[in-house]
Amino acid sequence: MNCVICGSRMKKESQNRYHYTASGLSRVYLNGVELYECTNEECGDEGLIIPMLEELHEQIATAIASQKNKLLPEEIRFLRTYLGFSGGDFAELIGVSPETVSRWEKGTVNMKESAERLLRVLILSRKGPFRDYEELKEFATQKRKLPKKREFKVHSSGWIEEAA
Ligand SMILES: [Zn+2]
Repeated sequence: MNCVICGSRMKKESQNRYHYTASGLSRVYLNGVELYECTNEECGDEGLIIPMLEELHEQIATAIASQKNKLLPEEIRFLRTYLGFSGGDFAELIGVSPETVSRWEKGTVNMKESAERLLRVLILSRKGPFRDYEELKEFATQKRKLPKKREFKVHSSGWIEEAA
């Protein structure tokens, strides 16, 4: 593989735990990605290969949507973009103003519990009808908490969240 910037050879870096900041989430780590670095030191470009990216995002979204803790602003944004909505479209969909969505994602205003539960059901119903009403009652019942880490590992069957 050659560097797309300078054409030099790319060297594979061993990387056991990759901090996936491009997700917009501050504590997500990946196990099983391939990181390449350009051998031209003046260039230093990096290339990242994440296998089964779509499935990974589904696993991350499911983990976030299933937690009891209220969503963090960065988690609201991740779930909204995972669903493929712009801030404006999402606002229209759930019946609030675009400014409200923007405030939720900046953390200046707290998302109402009912809106949070709706967002989570939108995520969790992608795999099939969501009927776990007992679980629904638990959503967003505990205060916001930045997780120590969320670690995901790729297996032949797909991405699996590792116990923290
Ligand atoms: Zn390069």
